[in-house]
Amino acid sequence: MKYLSLLLVLLACNAVQQPTQEQKRAQVSSGSAALSDTIVPAQYKDGHLVRIDKTDAEWKAQLTEMEYYVLREKGTERAFTGDLWNNHEKGTFVCAGCGLPLFSSETKFESGTGWPSFYQPIKPEFIADAEDHSYGMQRDEVLCARCGGHQGHVFNDGPKPTGLRYCINSVSLDFVKQ
Ligand code: FE
Repeated sequence: MKYLSLLLVLLACNAVQQPTQEQKRAQVSSGSAALSDTIVPAQYKDGHLVRIDKTDAEWKAQLTEMEYYVLREKGTERAFTGDLWNNHEKGTFVCAGCGLPLFSSETKFESGTGWPSFYQPIKPEFIADAEDHSYGMQRDEVLCARCGGHQGHVFNDGPKPTGLRYCINSVSLDFVKQ
């Protein structure tokens, strides 16, 4: 009986409804969603970027299942499946979790990888990095410095002028057309 009630509690916790991409876009256009597809400028307090901290339940309520998987669980979308790797429009790529402007179309390049790739972020302080030793590789993980959302990885085989390749998941970004 004790195990049955524990199971029911666990099931209830997992039953948080997550919006689909279409529902989220509808919420955003009606103004009921906090953000997405809009630039939410950085704010500073005592010279430090003001961070956003949310609970897993709050992220689940805000993000689509795929966004939650990539941003909060450090997942990776399959190459060539995202909606931004082949985007050639002018504009700004913002964090899909918090709207911080992370990358500009000016620094996007054709990497041939199937993921949107950039040679530098809009501001170095908007990106946080962490070492990632998963899958037996040593890679530098790229995170949004404001909400901690996983974006992708950075490699040192990029083009000039930085020589860096920020390999980012489409699903971690929203695009704001110029
Ligand atoms: Fe963010």
